[in-house]
Amino acid sequence: MMQLNSNSIYPCPACRLGKVQAMPLMEAMACDCCQQIFETDVERQQLKMLSCQPPLVWRWNGRRWIEAYYDGVEFGWGYTLAAIALVAVPTAIVGLTVYIFPPLPDTPLYWLPYAWIWLTFLSHLLTICWLAIEFYQFQLGIFLKTLLQRLVFR
Ligand SMILES: [Zn+2]
Repeated sequence: MMQLNSNSIYPCPACRLGKVQAMPLMEAMACDCCQQIFETDVERQQLKMLSCQPPLVWRWNGRRWIEAYYDGVEFGWGYTLAAIALVAVPTAIVGLTVYIFPPLPDTPLYWLPYAWIWLTFLSHLLTICWLAIEFYQFQLGIFLKTLLQRLVFR
């Protein structure tokens, strides 16, 4: 266990390749690899990356950084509920339409409405997944950029 303090060196939470350490005469830490600057909060054991809005925050648990989150942005049950509704409501509407007006079994393309229900469900589910991935993509971008620089300017 090691507390977050301004005298030690820590792995960089943004690019995961470099090391962050305190900048001289400043209440901030910088990475030697991706050049990101972090605001240090020793009391709350947090690093805050100011280069994006809202700022990304990591918490130090004594051994490693805990999952980043956006400062002031809460991913509460309201978001989960909205995500479920976004998938469930359109699927229910399409499903209900097919239920009320069922296609005649002998007509061509009678399977299409059923496929359409699945398509509606999957496309909305993918949208939710994409939004979740987007949340982490920013960090992935820093990682890839730093990795590339290391390979090229070694
Ligand atoms: Zn870094």
